[in-house]
Amino acid sequence: MTDNDVIATGRDGVGVAQPTYDAIVVGAGFGGIGAAIELKRQGVQSIAIVEREDDLGGTWHVNHYPGLAVDIASVTYSYSFEPNPFWSRLFAPGAELKRYAEHVADKYDLRRHMVFGEQIERAEWDDSASFWRVYSEDGTERTARLLLTATGFLSQPHTPAIPGIKTFKGTVIHTTAWQDGHDFTGERVAVIGTGATAVQLIPEIAKQADDLTVFQRTPIWVVPKLDFAIPRAVQQLFARVPATQKAARLVNTSLLELLMVTGVLHFKQFKVANRGAVALAKAHLKRQVPDPELREKLTPDYDFGCKRPTFSNEYFASFTKPNVALQTSSIVKIDPDGIITADGEKVQIDTLVLATGFDLWDTNFPAFEIRGRDGMDLGKWWRAERFQAYEGITVPKFPNFFTLNSPYSYSGLSYFTTIEGQMRHIARLLGEVKRRKATRFEVTEEANARFLDDVTRRLDSSVFYRGDCSSANSYYFNHAGEATLLRPRSTPGTLHEMATFPLEDYSFAGPAVTSVGRPATKSPSAKP
Ligand code: NAP
Repeated sequence: MTDNDVIATGRDGVGVAQPTYDAIVVGAGFGGIGAAIELKRQGVQSIAIVEREDDLGGTWHVNHYPGLAVDIASVTYSYSFEPNPFWSRLFAPGAELKRYAEHVADKYDLRRHMVFGEQIERAEWDDSASFWRVYSEDGTERTARLLLTATGFLSQPHTPAIPGIKTFKGTVIHTTAWQDGHDFTGERVAVIGTGATAVQLIPEIAKQADDLTVFQRTPIWVVPKLDFAIPRAVQQLFARVPATQKAARLVNTSLLELLMVTGVLHFKQFKVANRGAVALAKAHLKRQVPDPELREKLTPDYDFGCKRPTFSNEYFASFTKPNVALQTSSIVKIDPDGIITADGEKVQIDTLVLATGFDLWDTNFPAFEIRGRDGMDLGKWWRAERFQAYEGITVPKFPNFFTLNSPYSYSGLSYFTTIEGQMRHIARLLGEVKRRKATRFEVTEEANARFLDDVTRRLDSSVFYRGDCSSANSYYFNHAGEATLLRPRSTPGTLHEMATFPLEDYSFAGPAVTSVGRPATKSPSAKP
């Protein structure tokens, strides 16, 4: 190991295994970009960032449906260390997020590490060589001392298995595979789903379609969106005096913390915050929808926060337009020319839009097969022994592995506070690895169990267990009925813990490694 090596590579040993890379990051969205920035800060330079899509940006590359915008104000929904003074609106449109991702990747010189259009199929820990073997669907094998998965929570689109859906003769569009330029003018359109995506999309389709029928299974809590174009003078102020943008971030983050974190996670202690959010959403609905029957249908009967609430000034109002209908009778089947509901009605349509969200618990967690020590299969273990990850980032028996989209990893406030907490964890841990000149680290079973006990106890106060979530149909809950997505801590608490966790919670070993690694089966020389 040289002084510059962050994690001992074994390159100075004779007959010693040598991985192709120091680190492989799977996913080039904001998670993978943040992780790679942190790796580089820690001196890890030999990095491959492998992405299944044809460009970087994750969610913000894949999604480009009309109306796409952030629903966390942009001063907060961005890296704190990389503020963008030039957001055009308080809630920036999706295309700006994509450009922001490109800007950050360029600024931190990440593109040269990226390979696109390659889907990772499986990863295996090679215990004797102390590195990961990572295999792509196209047959490429790479090896790396570190594996980081940043594959997103909402990355596996869900297409419902509604009887007859394949027989539909018109156009079918899932929101994650938007057909840019599709003109709904003169069409009869159905949208299935009323999640955060539909809330943004429905007002846009309502402006074009002759007839729009929205199929709602579960209503969503929607609060007003205080959105406006950010004047040029304010953008210039943010650029010239960055402290002003920091202050704006602090104000917005504090408000969101109250609404999205305190009111949800501390439901037992702060019911008033939760009830305040419900009152706000109900008043918003009442202002926009005068018809009490329609209002009733659009009102959730589960507590605020059981499923992801959203922000919109146009969604409720869309249902008052003469060309828009809300259908709450359940879908029985789909015919070649329309949708049949349980009350016997047939809604004839030309285009079917599936705003049906994502599969989290079947095909994610993890997004591909990952085998650690002793052949342990991460996905099977999570399903057999409860979903768990120490501090939402590492797992016992999976050495040198950071799983960024883990159980209990999501901070609840914004994906950026999640990744920035994880970057702190990576920094602290790799700093210790370097100090010890180690080749491997692994979280202890004891530390992992302690963290799981702690989050389980804390979540007991949350709306998920203390509120009424029975009718929410929320993806926050896994098949076992456990809400294992959100980390039940305040955002400042999370950031503090990620920077100060006890280093004894990890075991470290190395630098000796004992076998020679197999060469890549397909040379990655042309690829990063
Ligand atoms: P989602 O919240 O999971 O919503 C999917 C919708 O499809 C639900 O209303 C669901 O009904 C419905 N659905 C699914 N299968 C169905 C079936 N067989 N029959 C009838 N209805 C069916 O997905 P999403 O709207 O794409 O949003 C996912 C997440 O993405 C959000 O929670 C948010 O975190 C994120 N998001 C963020 C933004 C942003 O602005 N930043 C924008 C969009 C999305 P049930 O509720 O009954 O299951």
